[in-house]
Amino acid sequence: MLDVDGTLAPIVEMFDRALVPAETRRAVAALADRSDVHVALVSGRSAAVARRMVGVSNLWVAGNHGFEIEGPNGEDLADPGVYRYRAVIAAAVERLEPLVSAMHGVIVENKAITLSVHWRLADPAIAPELRDAIDQVSQPLGLRITEGKRIFEIRPPALIDKGTAVLALAERLTSGHDDASIVFAGDDVTDEDAIRALRQHHPRSVTVRILGEESSPTEAEFTLRDTHAMRQFLEELARVRR
Ligand SMILES: [Mg+2]
Repeated sequence: MLDVDGTLAPIVEMFDRALVPAETRRAVAALADRSDVHVALVSGRSAAVARRMVGVSNLWVAGNHGFEIEGPNGEDLADPGVYRYRAVIAAAVERLEPLVSAMHGVIVENKAITLSVHWRLADPAIAPELRDAIDQVSQPLGLRITEGKRIFEIRPPALIDKGTAVLALAERLTSGHDDASIVFAGDDVTDEDAIRALRQHHPRSVTVRILGEESSPTEAEFTLRDTHAMRQFLEELARVRR
């Protein structure tokens, strides 16, 4: 189970220019092609964008931090209850845009079920003001806010996160296979939900945190330096599996 940005794709200034290198895609494909391995993306991106970025067939995808879950052929396996939040997220986008339009370098990304506010290109000094604007919009709508690397996420209040996503995927993909191994890798604060959930419910899981340039504390068992080291790890895993 793999996060995408900062794990498979190096972090870039413009979030919409992030790319998964061809070598990494090959390593993911080598694993996904095996009948005894399931590969799932677990991303804050929408499922469609995460799938497109990785560009490998036969992948499970948990998108929008787990609000979307798709099977390898795009089957929608998410709780249909989440779709009622689309109108609330649309309202949040509409209210937030005028508040941040004067904040240079702030980009609002509507992901239908959640929304992201990217501020990697903005002056870091605006963070408190930006956070105030986000609070002002989210609180009356009952939405929840989380923070990652130069990003605020506005989400429905449902108790769904990368932790619930990996547990749902683990249940689906390992049921009947008590000896199955689970690996999760991610690079950001929201990935810690997945790391904690797996360590608690599947203590034999291998949890990996990619450190990158801006790292925060981790409960992962292992760390890797960057997306390059992650790619080497996937290649090694594919080699061992062969
Ligand atoms: Mg990430």
